[in-house]
Amino acid sequence: MDNFIFNSNPGRVLFGSGTVARLPDEAARLNGERVLVLSTPEQADLASSVAGYLGNRVASVFSNAQMHTPVEVTREAMRIVDEVRADLIVSVGGGSTTGLGKAIAFRTDLPQIVVPTTYAGSEATPILGETDAGRKTTKSDPRILPEVIVYDVDLTLSLPVSMSVTSGINAIAHAVEALYARDANPIISMMAEEAITSIARGLPRVAANAQDREARAQVLYGAWLCGVSLGSVGMALHHKLCHTLGGMFNLPHAAMHTAILPHALRYNADAAPAAVARVSRALGFDDAPKGLFNFAKGLGATMSLKSLGMPEGGIEAAVKEAMANAYWNPRPLEKGPLTKLLELAWAGEAP
Ligand code: NAD
Repeated sequence: MDNFIFNSNPGRVLFGSGTVARLPDEAARLNGERVLVLSTPEQADLASSVAGYLGNRVASVFSNAQMHTPVEVTREAMRIVDEVRADLIVSVGGGSTTGLGKAIAFRTDLPQIVVPTTYAGSEATPILGETDAGRKTTKSDPRILPEVIVYDVDLTLSLPVSMSVTSGINAIAHAVEALYARDANPIISMMAEEAITSIARGLPRVAANAQDREARAQVLYGAWLCGVSLGSVGMALHHKLCHTLGGMFNLPHAAMHTAILPHALRYNADAAPAAVARVSRALGFDDAPKGLFNFAKGLGATMSLKSLGMPEGGIEAAVKEAMANAYWNPRPLEKGPLTKLLELAWAGEAP
């Protein structure tokens, strides 16, 4: 066995059905008496009902979280934090809402409870991606890591099938890159493989019946393991490309991850054969990149960056940007093959 270092992030996790009702106890554990509840505009009703559970502990509700954590929105929310002297953040929603909560926590060190309603996995990581003037940068800091995660499978039942599929594959991307990370370790690799298996089994059942609570729980459990993987080891080419394209073209996060992952996996396959064999085993396909592409497409995902709104002329600039501040990757980043990767993903062709 190779030498390894294992870091575990502290955190408390409640998982189940109806767990949102335990929020007041969790807020009390963190001495939260002036809670700021966050959501996106689309989930404002959910934020109000969560505020209802918290009763007079709520100081304010801010329902303007946006994808890719624009710094202007964070500034707007910070004004409310200061105004109401918030002492706890409760983020209810997907990665966009969690991102805003993290951006506030990074600036204030306030504790956070996250109630995830997608499979993004951000709730389990000390990582924050923020967008300023079209450029998305990430930072990692212990203040960013949420203190408590309340997974309530009931809140995921309303996630539309199309988003459930791409969000589930966004989660798989974390586990895939954890398996070939430079600092991979046996514990996280075990979680990552279990995560992919769990999501790959659950997702087709969710796509067939969005109200299948057992299948939803299987995917949500897998998504948590993916989040732990993402938060514990370094990510590589796939995440770099997604951060680059997300910042440059404001593409929908989970859908973009879904369109790129099979190609990033193909790019790295020969350089990380053991990791890719584990991905294949977990997915149940001999050829993991092609199998993943067909799996996503078969569940209705859009596999072309063109359809997601990326201009063809952006490929060259994206390759340049991804190579300028490269993350470590098992295979060196080469301009020609990277351009080919993005051309295939842009056109929606198989890897
Ligand atoms: P999202 O949070 O933007 O959600 C997409 C839309 O779906 C929103 O309108 C949201 O309100 C709605 N929605 C969410 N859950 C729903 C539900 N159960 N029912 C109905 N509608 C629902 O999308 P996302 O993919 O979860 O998050 C993307 C963001 O998360 C990006 O900004 C990305 O960078 C960030 N992210 C960060 C990390 C990290 O570790 N820092 C990890 C993953 C994702």
